[in-house]
Amino acid sequence: MKRLTPEGLHRRLERLAGRRLDLVLTSNATNYISFNVCRRNPLRVRLHRAFLYAPRPVVTGVGRWLAGRYRACPDVVQRFIDRPPREAARMVRTARPLQPRGQYYDLQQILGRVNRRHFRGRLRVRITWGRRGPQRAVYARTIGAYYENERLIVMNPVLDDPSVPGWFLAFTVYHECLHAVQPPSEPPHGRWFNEQLRRHPDYQAAARWEKANVVALTGRARRRFGLSSIDRLREYLDL
Ligand SMILES: [Zn+2]
Repeated sequence: MKRLTPEGLHRRLERLAGRRLDLVLTSNATNYISFNVCRRNPLRVRLHRAFLYAPRPVVTGVGRWLAGRYRACPDVVQRFIDRPPREAARMVRTARPLQPRGQYYDLQQILGRVNRRHFRGRLRVRITWGRRGPQRAVYARTIGAYYENERLIVMNPVLDDPSVPGWFLAFTVYHECLHAVQPPSEPPHGRWFNEQLRRHPDYQAAARWEKANVVALTGRARRRFGLSSIDRLREYLDL
């Protein structure tokens, strides 16, 4: 069966979606595709490696989905996910392992408090620290990200540090939780979103802390993640 190169797939999807994509190919057994609604440009997409074997109509379906043409997974893509080609099945490993417990902060505890305090304990999302392995550069790009398909918040491991105040971490988790509850008709970081964000008692302090600590955070990120990701981290901090 013909196999696309990762670069070929990336280019084709960008053309179809009509926007820049930050594409990560995964071997995640449970989620074949997820895209992050937090940052709009470039759109962060996690796609299973099986899609390297996808026939053209399937790739087209994915591209148009990313372009916002469908509300849910198109049938042609769903059929591919249900019955991936045999070559692709071999690529499947285990699901993304969650690691909410960091060296300093336990994200599960923080999420629990944020959930009880702001969402009446009703929010059903999962949370993990981003990995520091070979994919570390990916996670250095934003402080946090929310993946709707996985109902998963991924936090940047640069924040797992004693110099980062717990309340700032909690505010950032709150930000990501808002993505999970925002009405589908609302754009990420639109008016509704920002109103909710401002309601948080630490809103002002968090903005100040972010500004004051850009250098420290990015310095740490530079040591941990290398130079190329710094601009992207800064981009996020300037929000
Ligand atoms: Zn966001």
